Amino acid sequence: MKIGRFVATILIVEDRPVNLRFVATLLGDRGHRVVEARNGEEALRIVRSERPDLVIIDILTSGMDGCQFVLNLRSEPNSVQPRIVFRAAAHIAAEAEALATTFGASFIAKPVNPETLLAVVDAALSAQSAPPLEAHSEDKSIDSFLRPIARKLHRHTANLERLNAQLGRGIAQRDAQLEVVRAALDQEIKKRLLAERELTQANLRLKDQVVHDGLTGLHNRRYLEESLGREESRARRSALPFGVMMIDIDNFKRFNDTLGHAAGDAVLRAIGQYMLSAARGEDIVSRYGGEEFVLVMAPAQQGTVWERAEKLRREVQNLEIEYEGRRVGPITISVGIAIFPDHGESGQEVLRAADAALYQAKRSGRNCVVVGDKVKA
Ligand code: GH3
Ligand code: MG
Ligand code: MG
Repeated sequence: MKIGRFVATILIVEDRPVNLRFVATLLGDRGHRVVEARNGEEALRIVRSERPDLVIIDILTSGMDGCQFVLNLRSEPNSVQPRIVFRAAAHIAAEAEALATTFGASFIAKPVNPETLLAVVDAALSAQSAPPLEAHSEDKSIDSFLRPIARKLHRHTANLERLNAQLGRGIAQRDAQLEVVRAALDQEIKKRLLAERELTQANLRLKDQVVHDGLTGLHNRRYLEESLGREESRARRSALPFGVMMIDIDNFKRFNDTLGHAAGDAVLRAIGQYMLSAARGEDIVSRYGGEEFVLVMAPAQQGTVWERAEKLRREVQNLEIEYEGRRVGPITISVGIAIFPDHGESGQEVLRAADAALYQAKRSGRNCVVVGDKVKA
């Protein structure tokens, strides 16, 4: 108990435990006896039994509010009349304070500042007696006191609704902006996918060009040489032979000289097309260079290769090739044949043996097929 200060019994009406603890501790530390009530009804009962010197109560509470509490209290003729401290939220402080004055109560705004609370409590306790209700207050209904507060609350709610609407508009605007960004991103993704596809196609074309001959569309020499290595390994694994035909157009220079280079190209294309159409699944058909072609047959015995070569030679001779409406030809070919492993120990050796056989075919008068000998290293 502190000397020189009035020590009182104080009733705190509060339904939130945290708030209650806070105020109770503050006043308890000050030496006051603190009693507690959760609502107005309980508070009325405690006032009768505990006869507190002061009651701290919210103006607006759920259930019986502070004003109603005071009116009930004052309507009991023999009841003790404690001093009242009203509490109210800061945004309705002006109206609440006016109401407190009308009810002869003190006022403190929430959230409660400890020093202000102690000062308000001290001041209320040191007053001579509980001030009466303001004159004419009986004429005033409780509604007329609460009306300004209700108006303020209404304005507050309206403000909140306005803010909410603004927020909604802001969100709608942002949504629209996001939609624009999303559409732009979609476009960008489509563009990139397209570019990626074009790049993939260009790469494929490039890969295709690397292994194909541009004029005839057949495989090129590079591809053939790679294939020879593969065929050699396969033949070793399977112990099955493969054949190589080296094919050269006879007297091709004459076509160029008499009909022009473009006519020569047309002949090369026609022979290429024919060789492709006559090829089988496992055949590798390539333009080796100039007017020379190489056909690899795998697997195949020498007899089969020879038959195929003969057939090719006959059919090329009978090909009807036209250039600018004029018949070109007849065209004949010479073919040299070599077999792996009979005529060489590697694919390259067999190719050289086929080339040597082709040379023999030319020397034998052209338009014929010659089988190679084993090439001497
Ligand atoms: P042989 O019967 O001895 O093979 O005689 P040839 O005239 O066919 O052989 P030669 O090697 O003397 O001539 C080949 C010609 O093929 C020479 C060259 O101008 C021509 N040639 C090479 N590549 C092409 C081409 O891509 N297009 C055209 N039009 N001619 C080509
Ligand atoms: Mg030739
Ligand atoms: Mg040639």
